[in-house]
Amino acid sequence: MSASHYELACLECGRSYRDADSGFFLSCPEHHRPSLLRARYAERRLTIHGENPGMFRYSDWLPVRRILKEANGPICYESSGLGGYLKLDNLFIAFNGYWPEKGALLESGSFKELEANAVCARVPSGESRRMVVSSAGNTGMAFLHVCTQNDVPVVVVVPESALGSLWTTTERSPLTTVAVLAGNVDYLDVIEAGKKLSEMETFYPEGGALNVARRDGMGTVLLSAVEHIGELPSHYFQAIGSGTGGIAAWEMSLRLREDGRFGRHAKMKLHFVQNSPFTIMTDAWRLSLPELPAVDERVSREQISSLYAQVLSNRKPPYSIKGGVFDALTDTHGDMYSVSMKEAEEAGELFQKLEGIDLHPAAQVALGGLIQAVRAGRIRRRESVLLNVTGGGSERLSREEKKREVKPDVVIHPGDNIEEIVTRNLVRI
Ligand SMILES: *Cc1c(COP(=O)(O)O)cnc(C)c1O
Repeated sequence: MSASHYELACLECGRSYRDADSGFFLSCPEHHRPSLLRARYAERRLTIHGENPGMFRYSDWLPVRRILKEANGPICYESSGLGGYLKLDNLFIAFNGYWPEKGALLESGSFKELEANAVCARVPSGESRRMVVSSAGNTGMAFLHVCTQNDVPVVVVVPESALGSLWTTTERSPLTTVAVLAGNVDYLDVIEAGKKLSEMETFYPEGGALNVARRDGMGTVLLSAVEHIGELPSHYFQAIGSGTGGIAAWEMSLRLREDGRFGRHAKMKLHFVQNSPFTIMTDAWRLSLPELPAVDERVSREQISSLYAQVLSNRKPPYSIKGGVFDALTDTHGDMYSVSMKEAEEAGELFQKLEGIDLHPAAQVALGGLIQAVRAGRIRRRESVLLNVTGGGSERLSREEKKREVKPDVVIHPGDNIEEIVTRNLVRI
């Protein structure tokens, strides 16, 4: 597979590019303003390659240079238990996590594994530098899993508070390095530390929301749902922290509309859910603000320190950037929700009872948002609804004794020079 089946279009200036020969483009090479690129695929109609493993059945719509051999993918099924309870006749669940009876085999526990698969498959062969991935937890686990399977050298930077909840299910490759940021740090601190490290010559950044492979990898959730349903759902529910997965679902829905075979009528309405008290995007959207207002950093940090779903905690999400969360919501007349820890926990118990598996806290938050929307009469009974369960089955993995503890390779304390410490502790590639 070469990179010729896609090009990258800058949403700011409209120029298009072939992907970089070395590494990958994260932003428009022509100007310095941050901008999102979007992958444009030669195939405008989706062809499914069932012979490819997992999510690579959608390889025509992934910006990748190879197909990974062991990859798994998203699954979707129609709910009867929860659908009956909520009186929704067409409720579909995209389950991303570990639930073998349903064919869900993402052992790192979340849809971040889809992102990691696509990003690793976008890395050019012969890349001699190490990728740097900043994570609140799930992205890190996903990359440890996928980079181990595929021998991709990576440094994963995580906050100390996340360490206890990380696992792998296989022995980690020596090419993976876990760098822990000690102290009272949050996701944004980790992003900034990772950025510093990735500016060194021997490293390159994974790029977060700016990486088209991250977005389209997550977007396969919608492709698998549409393959199952036969058309685009009317409503899409997801918990967001950065909103990258939400933007990804929107971008895939645009491609599916252009394809023309999956319903051209109405746009898929996006419903994004945040976990109170940290709800900066919900607050801004409800005030129709195209930019996030400045918020007191100390207040945000305090809100995040008590947050139930820690993965939903990005203080600088891609909300106002062109093609970001605000544009996605505007285009689809979307909605945003704020769900408390109590509502989330109740939603999680309901799902366990009615569907039969444990949800990641963020997925509980998403279901809490769906429950609010149904109670407020925003969804009609016959409309099709897709609930993106972005993570689940962690308890199931524990019960099967599949989890191994992740031990840090490097601990970075406040004031330390991250470049120096990480470099000193690396195994040679
Ligand atoms: C990362 C994550 C989210 C939020 O995804 P966005 O990138 O903000 O769209 C939701 N749920 C889980 C389980 C996650 O790991």
